[in-house]
Amino acid sequence: MLHDLHSGPFSNGSKPKPPRSTFDSGENGEAADGNKVGLLPSKGWRERNFRFLNDVLIPHLLAPRQPRGASALLGELSANQTGVTWLGHAGFLLQLGGKNILVDPVWALWLGPAKRYSHPSLVARDLPYIDLVLITHAHFDHLHLPSLRAVAAGQPIIVPEGVGSIVKSCGFSRIVEMDYWQSLRVAGLDITFTPMKHWGARFIHDTYRKFGGYLISDARQTVFHCGDSSLFDGFTEVGKRADIKVALMPIGAYKPPSGRPVHMNPEEALQAFQMLGAGQMVPMHYGAYPISGEPLHEPEQRLLMATRQLKMQDRVHFLAEGQPAVF
Ligand SMILES: [Zn+2]
Ligand SMILES: [Zn+2]
Repeated sequence: MLHDLHSGPFSNGSKPKPPRSTFDSGENGEAADGNKVGLLPSKGWRERNFRFLNDVLIPHLLAPRQPRGASALLGELSANQTGVTWLGHAGFLLQLGGKNILVDPVWALWLGPAKRYSHPSLVARDLPYIDLVLITHAHFDHLHLPSLRAVAAGQPIIVPEGVGSIVKSCGFSRIVEMDYWQSLRVAGLDITFTPMKHWGARFIHDTYRKFGGYLISDARQTVFHCGDSSLFDGFTEVGKRADIKVALMPIGAYKPPSGRPVHMNPEEALQAFQMLGAGQMVPMHYGAYPISGEPLHEPEQRLLMATRQLKMQDRVHFLAEGQPAVF
């Protein structure tokens, strides 16, 4: 049986740390964190696995990988501009406050049995010097050690509490673990780690690892990277804490084989974006890896329809991987 493909089944060989005593009570550590989704699959798992294998995973294994798309890098930005470049899936190069920030870079051609749809358009060697790296959680589609090693050049990396041990040998100068609602000033930017509704285990039992999103601010503007989440009231709370110019919102992986409600569908992501009160939305977490039961490009089509119905076309920006946008 397949577990959700973005954690669990493809160990990189490193051993998970034993849970801390504060998370020992309660099923899956739920007592310690009400936003954590439990690990058990819902009814119909066997049938969903079968459909996922037949309709999504195996057809992608057999299809040739698409070539890399066109890419570009931004020139110098003015102080009130934010550069956003999608690196595929949840990976972004953000440029604000004169700094280059990478969030969740994953250039893996394979995530276990899930084959990347296309060759990455921009990889580490194409990028400018990266001042700071942020990781939203330890799932394999967000934290990929070879990608991080390719980026690491003595800069700091920020991870959720409980995730630092995984990245310790990558080559970063400083590993900073953040707790929910903690804020830090790093590289002249204010970084706040926000709660989300998801779970953080990289394997099975390491549910003590935290997971969330980031508010990334310079003196004039804030970008929000949601990480992974299902829809919950917390989006309103995040929106109260910052005037978000651009929200990077996950819209895919809403039909995981386990049936667990751990991700948003496109309509829910649009609702979460409205709860945030953010200015612009950039969709992500679709189109790269077949890790869920929906067709790979369905999230994009559904979001486009929902956006038109709500007449929000001027607030939702679909990015092509590797093509920068300025907000
Ligand atoms: Zn995840
Ligand atoms: Zn994910």
